[in-house]
Amino acid sequence: MTPLRARLLLSAASAEQFPQTPYPEIGFVGRSNVGKSSLLNRLLLQPRLARVSSTPGCTRTVNFYLVEERWVWVDLPGLGYAAVSRQERQQWARLIRHYIEERQQLRLLCVLVDSRHDPSPWDMAVMEIAEQRQRPFVVVLTKCDKLSAQQLQARLAQLQHLLAQCTFVVEVLPTSARTGMGREQLLAVLRRYCMAPVA
Ligand code: GDP
Repeated sequence: MTPLRARLLLSAASAEQFPQTPYPEIGFVGRSNVGKSSLLNRLLLQPRLARVSSTPGCTRTVNFYLVEERWVWVDLPGLGYAAVSRQERQQWARLIRHYIEERQQLRLLCVLVDSRHDPSPWDMAVMEIAEQRQRPFVVVLTKCDKLSAQQLQARLAQLQHLLAQCTFVVEVLPTSARTGMGREQLLAVLRRYCMAPVA
């Protein structure tokens, strides 16, 4: 397995700063501490590209990574609760909504959900925005190494049930940044959608 060439293009704190690029995009959205940086690094096989945090909620930019000089991966962090006002959190939620609804380059949204917990209202709201805007999305279950086979089956069944009415969910995929579980499957889906026409 060779690492994917990737570099940070830009970190944006507001929609005005989103870069104008000709490349198709994959968005990765998930609450802080869900394991998003670890998963991105594992997908790229680059241990230090995305920042793995031990302090939840410290990232406050949307990060655009140019991958293989031909597509862009966008890290859309959810905010943690530490030291963040309600107003800031609402502002941030609006920015993420704006990205999902308006970003022309977006081909596929990965919604990261910690497999150990029920999806939060925030996770469900993100999926609902994608569904309403008719954006294809993958639910990426993170940290699945922490679950027994039985627990994982129960979580998958729960999500299938919750998403039963959704037309734009592509799949629910168990992953682990620790073991590499799901990496090849997820990369295959990302590559497939990267070639898809804009919704
Ligand atoms: P982010 O805030 O969503 O970017 O999350 P991080 O990637 O910084 O990870 C948050 C914490 O979860 C860190 O302590 C990671 O070591 C841990 N973590 C991330 N992915 C996994 C995983 O697949 N398995 C396990 N067991 N822990 C993980």
